[in-house]
Amino acid sequence: MTSDQHIPGQKGSLRPSRRSIIKAAGATALATSLGFATAGHAAAEDDIAATRDVLIVGAGFAGITAARELRSRFPKLKIQILEARDRIGGRTWTRAFAGEQVELGGTWVDPKQRNIWREVQRYKLELTEDAGPTRAIFPANGGFASFAPEEAFARQAELLTPLFDGSQQYFERPYEPFYREDLLNPIDRMSLRDKLDQLKYSAADEAWVSATTGGYAGSSTTGSLSQLAQWWALSGWNYEGYLSVNTWRPKVGTAGLLKAMLADADATLRLNTPVTQIADDGKRVFVRTAAGQTYTARSVVVAVPANVWNTIKFSSLPSEFGALSTAGTGVRTAKKAVVHVTGKDLGRFYAEAPEGSPISLVVPFSERSDGNIIITFSVDPNLDVNSTAQMQTALRGFVPDLNVVSVLGQNWGGANYSLGGWSFRKPGQLTGPLRTVQRRQGLITFATSDIASGWNGFMDGAIESGLAAAVQTAEALGLA
Ligand SMILES: Cc1cc2nc3c(=O)[nH]c(=O)nc-3n(C[C@H](O)[C@H](O)[C@H](O)COP(=O)(O)OP(=O)(O)OC[C@H]3O[C@@H](n4cnc5c(N)ncnc54)[C@H](O)[C@@H]3O)c2cc1C
Repeated sequence: MTSDQHIPGQKGSLRPSRRSIIKAAGATALATSLGFATAGHAAAEDDIAATRDVLIVGAGFAGITAARELRSRFPKLKIQILEARDRIGGRTWTRAFAGEQVELGGTWVDPKQRNIWREVQRYKLELTEDAGPTRAIFPANGGFASFAPEEAFARQAELLTPLFDGSQQYFERPYEPFYREDLLNPIDRMSLRDKLDQLKYSAADEAWVSATTGGYAGSSTTGSLSQLAQWWALSGWNYEGYLSVNTWRPKVGTAGLLKAMLADADATLRLNTPVTQIADDGKRVFVRTAAGQTYTARSVVVAVPANVWNTIKFSSLPSEFGALSTAGTGVRTAKKAVVHVTGKDLGRFYAEAPEGSPISLVVPFSERSDGNIIITFSVDPNLDVNSTAQMQTALRGFVPDLNVVSVLGQNWGGANYSLGGWSFRKPGQLTGPLRTVQRRQGLITFATSDIASGWNGFMDGAIESGLAAAVQTAEALGLA
C-alpha cells in the first residue's frame, strides 16, 4: 500500500491551494538546482506545495518516538512519516509462527532500560516473563555437554566478569559515556579480542564466553570492548543484571507497543516509500523518494539505521556520517530464527557455542506436546536461517537427535532497509564519530538506536535517540 494512512485525529487537507502552487513553482526550481530531477514528475509540484513541518524517514522505534514526542509538545505540527517497507517496526518484527506470537528482531524489555520501561508503564503493557532454562548446553571436550543452568551460569559469570574490570571507573555514569573520557579513550581503542588476549584464557574457557564476545559482537576482532562494557555498566556492573535484560516481553508484541505510540503521534504515515535523496537549502528540506516524488518539510528526522545512511544521497554531511555507515554499526551478519523442534527429553534447553559456529545462541521459548519452540541467533554469513535442513544440521551440533519441523528466520544484514541487525560498535566508534552524528545538521537530525548514548543496540536506545531528535527538531523549527 502506498497511499497515506491518516492516523485518527489528523486534521487538514494536503490538497494544494492556488497560492501554494505558485510557491511550489519556486520550490521546484530550487529543488532542481539542488540536484533533484523533479521535471517530468506530475506528483512533484503537488507534493512540494504541501510542505510539512516535519518529515520523519523511517517508522522504527526511533522515528515513531520522535513523531509522538513532537506531537505531544506541539499539537499543531504537520508531521509525516515516510517508511520504505510495507510495515512499521524496522528491526522489530512481530510475526505468527506455529501458533505462537514471536519476534524476529527486538523482543525483551527491562526496568533497567529506562526509556522503553517508561513506554511499558505509559501504555500499561502486560508482560510475559520467559522462564529460565532447565538445562544449559555449553562447549566441552571439542563438542558440547549439558549442565545444570546454575552451574553453567556461575562458571560463565566468573569468566565474563574480568573483561569489565575498571568499568565502574571508566563508565562511572553509564548513560553519560564521556563522563570519564580520559579513562575511556584507551579502552575504546580495544577490540574484545585484545581484551581476551590480555586475559590469556585457555581455548576451553574462552569458548564459554565467546557466544557473547564473538556472537553478540559479530566477531571478537571487530566488536569493541567498550560496547560490551557499557551494557555491563548499564546493567549494574554485574552478571545477574546483564543476563536479566532478556526476560520480559510485551504480551502485545513490539508491534502492539509501536501501534499505540503511532496512534498518539497522530501523524500521516506513508508505507512503501523508500527515500533516496535529502537536501537542505537552509530554509526547507527536500526529500526525494524512489518513486520520484519530492516532499518538502521545514525539518527532517532521518530515522533509518546507520548502516543505511550511505544508500541515501545527502546534499552535504560531515565525513563522520559516511565513514560510520561504511564501517557499519549494525552487525552485518546478524540473523535470528524461531524454530519448531522435536526430540527426546529436550527440556527447556539453552545453548551457547564458540565463535565461528553456525548458531551462537539458543534460547528456549515454549515447550509443547508437539515439540519445543526455540529462538536461535547466528552471525554465520553462510547459514540460511530459513532452511529446515541447514538449521537441523546446525542444531544437531547441540542436540544430536533433534529434528526440525519448521523454521521462520530473518537475515537482517541481507534486508535492504536494515543492512545489519542489532548495533555493536567497533573500536573507536564511541569516542570517534558518535558525538558528531548525534548533532543536528542544519534542518536535518538523525535518530536511531545505533547512535544512542545509552542502550544503543536496544529498543531503549532507539527511544532515547528519537527523544533527542525531537528536541533538536524543535530547535530547527525555532520552537525550542
Ligand atoms: C535479531 C535482533 C534481536 C534484537 N533483540 C533485542 C531485544 O531483545 N531487546 C531490545 O531492546 N532490542 C533488541 N534488538 C535491537 C532493536 O530491535 C533495535 O535496536 C531497534 O529496533 C532499532 O530501532 P531504530 O528505530 O533505530 O531502527 P529500525 O528499527 O531499523 O528502524 C528504521 C526504519 O527505517 C526504515 N528505512 C530504512 N531505510 C529507509 C529509506 N531509505 N526510506 C524510508 N524508510 C527507511 C526501515 O524500514 C525501518 O522501519 C534486536 C535486534 C535484532 C536485529
